[in-house]
Amino acid sequence: MNFTVSNRLKKLPPYLFAEIDDEKNRLLKQGRKILDLGIGDPDLPTPEPIIDAAADALHNSKNHCYPSYKGSSKFRKTVSEWYKNRFNVELNPENEIISLIGSKEGIGHLPMAFLNTGDVALIPDPSYPVYSTGTMFAGGVSYKMPLLEKNNFLPDFETLSADMLEKAKLIYLNYPNNPTSAIADYSFYEKAIFYAKKYNIIIASDQAYSEIYYKKPPISILSLPGAKDVVIELNSLSKSFNMTGWRIGMAVGNKKLVEGLGKIKTNLDSGAFGAVQDAACYALNNYEQLSISIRKIYISRRAKLAEALRKGGFNFKLPEATFYFWIKTPDGRSSKEFAKALLVDKGIVVTPGVGFGESGEGYFRISMTADEKTLSEAAKTIASI
Ligand SMILES: *Cc1c(COP(=O)(O)O)cnc(C)c1O
Repeated sequence: MNFTVSNRLKKLPPYLFAEIDDEKNRLLKQGRKILDLGIGDPDLPTPEPIIDAAADALHNSKNHCYPSYKGSSKFRKTVSEWYKNRFNVELNPENEIISLIGSKEGIGHLPMAFLNTGDVALIPDPSYPVYSTGTMFAGGVSYKMPLLEKNNFLPDFETLSADMLEKAKLIYLNYPNNPTSAIADYSFYEKAIFYAKKYNIIIASDQAYSEIYYKKPPISILSLPGAKDVVIELNSLSKSFNMTGWRIGMAVGNKKLVEGLGKIKTNLDSGAFGAVQDAACYALNNYEQLSISIRKIYISRRAKLAEALRKGGFNFKLPEATFYFWIKTPDGRSSKEFAKALLVDKGIVVTPGVGFGESGEGYFRISMTADEKTLSEAAKTIASI
């Protein structure tokens, strides 16, 4: 047999964290102890009351059948109430909301609904890799928008060429941002909507970290006037409620955009498990108490980690949201070389910034996904290198 993979698989960029993963596995085999602060997956369990709600829902035999493709009416109604209470955004549960099997799925499938071969998507750099792989799988082309520290890690629309903006059909935005932990304000979103309307571009807003914040609650781009003409927003319970394993999220906003994504999904998957949707409803109905306790933990971790890193001579902006620290490598070292040295010499995994895109070179990302004591010890070790 001589099976060859499709061109789209051949076109996948080399997995940039592979080197670190290989090295980590090699050291683990030698019996070395490794502390992994590289992953974007909360170490904390899902809050107990959400698990209880899911346990009840498991016994409901209605949940044993195929779920509704677009999400149960209860789920869509709950999402609409949550968007109203949390973001002051009105959404019609009938046609402006669908469930997702985690937001990654929606992010990855969206280009298939709206891009033709050769169509352009504007992708932030550095960023979550699914924006560009989803674009490539749909036959589209990614143009990178650098996220620079001097612009608070927001794309600078004024510096994008008119040609780039004219070609673009889709733009991905992600605030609170992974990996830079930056947040977006009203005036940035206002500008984004202005450009999207001027150049007829769909805005896909990835808000996976909307509840992981330490100052003001992040706003939704959908709360701006006229946003619904151009915006589809993808949100998720994964990070906000420590539910990465449950696979539940939602796409909301412009009716045509939600419907287009829904059509792709109807033909590929059969919806999110009903019991998981019920558990998500519990979480969203009780989001204030549940997310306060989660934020509290990150707030003390953030303080401990920041203190130890500052003592060690690192200079950085304290994250206002997400559970990531985005820090310049010492002495301008390359991010890969620094991450590798840290792993081999000290047994600590951090993520090299360049893995998220060229503009991530010179940075590394630490996840606050370990307890306070571990984090401050790790920071001391990082500073000693
Ligand atoms: C984790 C993450 C997601 C996806 O989370 P799901 O578990 O698929 O909902 C989406 N965007 C960013 C930026 C993330 O870091």
